[in-house]
Amino acid sequence: MKKEKVILIGAGLCGLYTAYLLQKKGIEVLLLEANTRIGGRIKTITGTTGVTMEMGATWFGNQHRHLLEVLNILELPYFRQHTQGISLFETMSFVPPQKFEISDSEEPSFRIKGGTAKLIEKLISEIGMQHIKTQTKITAIKEDNNQLIVIDAAGNSYSADKVISTIPPNLLVNSVVFEPNLPDAFIQLAKKTHTWMGESIKFSVEYTTPFWRQNHYSGTLFSQASIIQEMYDHSTADNSGFALKGFLNGGTAVLSLEERKEKVIAQLTTFFGLEANDYVAYYENVWREEPLTFQPYEQLVLAHQNNGHSLFKNPLQNGKLYVSGAETATQNPGYMDGAIFAAKTIAAQF
Ligand SMILES: Cc1cc2nc3c(=O)[nH]c(=O)nc-3n(C[C@H](O)[C@H](O)[C@H](O)COP(=O)(O)OP(=O)(O)OC[C@H]3O[C@@H](n4cnc5c(N)ncnc54)[C@H](O)[C@@H]3O)c2cc1C
Repeated sequence: MKKEKVILIGAGLCGLYTAYLLQKKGIEVLLLEANTRIGGRIKTITGTTGVTMEMGATWFGNQHRHLLEVLNILELPYFRQHTQGISLFETMSFVPPQKFEISDSEEPSFRIKGGTAKLIEKLISEIGMQHIKTQTKITAIKEDNNQLIVIDAAGNSYSADKVISTIPPNLLVNSVVFEPNLPDAFIQLAKKTHTWMGESIKFSVEYTTPFWRQNHYSGTLFSQASIIQEMYDHSTADNSGFALKGFLNGGTAVLSLEERKEKVIAQLTTFFGLEANDYVAYYENVWREEPLTFQPYEQLVLAHQNNGHSLFKNPLQNGKLYVSGAETATQNPGYMDGAIFAAKTIAAQF
C-alpha cells in the first residue's frame, strides 16, 4: 500500500509537534517553513552575558496540562517565575506606584530552563532536519484530483495526499491563494480570528547583576501610565544571567527603537534607581512588524476572538486540507498549550 504523504506548513510549535506525532504513527511528513528561523512565535535570544531572553512565548501554568505532558515526555525541565520582593503597580504618572507583594501561595507560572527554544530544539532533533525545509514561503495550494499541490514563492511545487496548515488563520487567508477557493464562511471567520500576541511589543534589558533583587524588588511591574505595561524578572533558572523583560504599550509601535529604548530606561531608572542605566543591552521585538505572524485585520478583532471556533474542526478541499495552529484549539487557544492541543487533535485523525 502506498504510504500517505503529509505536508505541514509552518514550523512553529504546532507544526513541529504535529510532525513529531505523525512520525510516531509511521507517516511521512515534510515541514515547509517560510522563515530562516524555526519556532514561529517562540523566539529565544541569548545576550552577550549568556542570559536567554524570550521575545515570544514564555510562561505556562498548571492548567496547561497538554504542554506539561509534552515537557515531561521530552524531559525538558522548567522552573518557577521569580516573584519574590516588592512589586509595583503604577496607575497614574503623577502618583508614585503602589507597592505590593505576590504571595507564594498564588498559582505559579513557569518557564522552561534554558529558554522556550529548548522545546523547539528538542522537537527538531526528534523529527530530523531532513524533514524540515526553511525559507519556503507557501503562496498557493491547488486541488489536483485526490492530491493537493503546494506552491512556494520560488515557484517550486510539492504534492501531498493531505496538507496541514499551521499559519495563523487571518494570515493564511490573506497570504495563500487557494484553488478552488475556500468556502466564504471560512474566509470570513479566518479574517476575524485573532492571532494571539500578534500586536505585542516585547522588550528585554540585559544586566550583569540583578540589582533590583538586591534592592528588595521582585522586578514585577504593572503600569497603566508608562511605556512598560507589564514586566518581570527574567534571570536564568541558575541565576547566572540577568534581565528584566516584558511588554510595551502597543501604541509605541509608531516610535523608533531608540525612542522606545530611551523611554524604557528612563522608566526603569525612575522605579529602580540609577543602576538601571548600567545595562548591557536593550532588545525588542515588534510582532506587528513580523509578516509571518501578523496581518492587519479588516475590522476590529478582540483578543482571542473566534479562537477555537467549531468551523476549524472540519477539513477543507474534500477532506485534504486541515487548518490548525494554536488559534484553532478548543483548549487554551492562542497559547503554547493550545498549539499542542491542536497538534494532538489533528494527529488523532490520521
Ligand atoms: C510576544 C508573544 C508572547 C507570547 N507569550 C506566551 C506565553 O507566555 N505563554 C504561551 O503559552 N503562549 C504565548 N504566546 C503564544 C505562543 O507563542 C503561541 O501560542 C505558539 O507559539 C503558536 O504556535 P503555532 O505553531 O500555532 O503558530 P506560530 O508559532 O505562529 O507558527 C506558524 C509558523 O508558520 C510560518 N509561516 C507563516 N506563513 C507561512 C507561509 N506562507 N509559508 C510557510 N510558513 C509560514 C511562520 O513563520 C511560523 O513559523 C506568545 C506569543 C507572542 C508573539
